[in-house]
Amino acid sequence: MLPLIDSHCHLADEKLRDDVEGVLARAEEAGVRRMISVGAIGSIDNDRLTVEIAERHANVFAAVGVHPHDAKDASEARFTELKELAGSKKVVAIGESGLDFFYKHSPPEAQEASLRRHLELAAELDLPCVIHCRDAARRLVEIVGEVGMPPRGGVVHCFTGDADAAREFVTLGFHISFSGILTFRNAAKIRDATPLVPDDRVMVETDAPYLAPEPYRGKRNEPAFVVRTFQALARTRGADAAVLSAQLVANTSRMFRLPPL
Ligand SMILES: [Zn+2]
Ligand SMILES: [Zn+2]
Repeated sequence: MLPLIDSHCHLADEKLRDDVEGVLARAEEAGVRRMISVGAIGSIDNDRLTVEIAERHANVFAAVGVHPHDAKDASEARFTELKELAGSKKVVAIGESGLDFFYKHSPPEAQEASLRRHLELAAELDLPCVIHCRDAARRLVEIVGEVGMPPRGGVVHCFTGDADAAREFVTLGFHISFSGILTFRNAAKIRDATPLVPDDRVMVETDAPYLAPEPYRGKRNEPAFVVRTFQALARTRGADAAVLSAQLVANTSRMFRLPPL
């Protein structure tokens, strides 16, 4: 069993929060040694609960922010609260922020303003940023180009772009994290992009409880299932599994400054 880190999950989501002990036990059995649990969904209560869960569990670390879906509610008061939460030693990143022009649950202008504010906050707090990007690669590249990448870097999570987008994100300095989508039959474009990400920039994630990989597609996702995405990634990159596992653990630990396994 190879060690893995789930670089992006949502343990405070209502589908997982009442089963955290079970989820963590199954993760451990699957070799998933650490998890980055991301708040950011809905209200600040989700960030608060995310930090609480991280503080209760040695293997769980937290990211706090405002999801692009909720960017219309990203008030300055919310950023003040996020800054306070980021005082916890278990908060290792700001996010997820970003742009989602597929759903547009918040107007694009609100998403862009919130993204800029997150990039500034990450720089100010000396933390990396976690970025969500759907159908918005060009604008993301432009905005990060204008505001600047936070000195601690960032990750584009749940990568759904093509080879060109992967190249551009890497050139900007981003890490790229692949989710269970990689295992979906219709995801050839994403699979083709995987070998373009350098060995020292790649990560894996579940985005649990969403986006369960095959053969669990459509079911509730959880960190233990990241093994399936890892196996798919090893195939598409033509990588030795043990070598890839070590690279993924090293990349994720370095960017989020996690303690050694
Ligand atoms: Zn996301
Ligand atoms: Zn997410």
